[in-house]
Amino acid sequence: MAKVAHSLLERVKGQLLAELGQDVRDERVLAAVASVPREKFVPDELRAFAYENRPLPIGHGQTISQPLIVAMMTEALELKSDEKVLELGTGSGYQAAILAELAGQVITVERILPLAERAAAVLGELGYENVRVCVCGDVLGWPEEAPYDGIVVTAGAPQVPPALLEQLAPGGRLVVPVGARDVQELLLVTKGPLGLTTKRLGPCRFVPLVGPGAWSSADLGFAEG
Ligand code: SAH
Repeated sequence: MAKVAHSLLERVKGQLLAELGQDVRDERVLAAVASVPREKFVPDELRAFAYENRPLPIGHGQTISQPLIVAMMTEALELKSDEKVLELGTGSGYQAAILAELAGQVITVERILPLAERAAAVLGELGYENVRVCVCGDVLGWPEEAPYDGIVVTAGAPQVPPALLEQLAPGGRLVVPVGARDVQELLLVTKGPLGLTTKRLGPCRFVPLVGPGAWSSADLGFAEG
């Protein structure tokens, strides 16, 4: 029974990879999606949907992002295997695992402790030794380990957070959804020799980034548990 379910998942995963391949050209990113078991990062009862190209709830009002968005954000970072990358919004830990396949070192930060704990446990079980899961401090990101060659924000911000630009290395890339609470535009900001350049990657929809320089929980008025 478990075996049948597994082969079904593998078949849907193949379809997902074919679908992603229409928009994502970087073979390294597609190989990372192929090797990370997304079913381990979703709640047990949603396992059957793990390879559908859509976000899924992971508890505490949060979601694991849509695979296409994860792949697009990762592709935009253009990570090299010796680079250090920061993720804001660990959530399930899935995006962190994809980053860990491509970068030398991954620091991922989460503000909801039980999500951080669960993600760290799954990443540990899967043997990712180059990922460190941190629980948010008083500033956005994780300045202790800065600068980063890449920063990816997997929650929507009202503006490009200045604190994250400060944590970006020269030549570094920041991928961040910016806009209103319910819909944002995905931006790629590059710190080049002549200053910052911004490229628009298209519309997207993320849960809010909460914290200093982003949304406050009072603004949002949402309950989390
Ligand atoms: N990348 C995740 C999806 C994240 S959903 C995955 O692959 O599953 C967005 C996450 O951002 C939520 O878990 C939310 O709690 C977290 N978050 C919101 N504001 C944050 C902040 N300021 N710092 C770190 N994490 C934050």
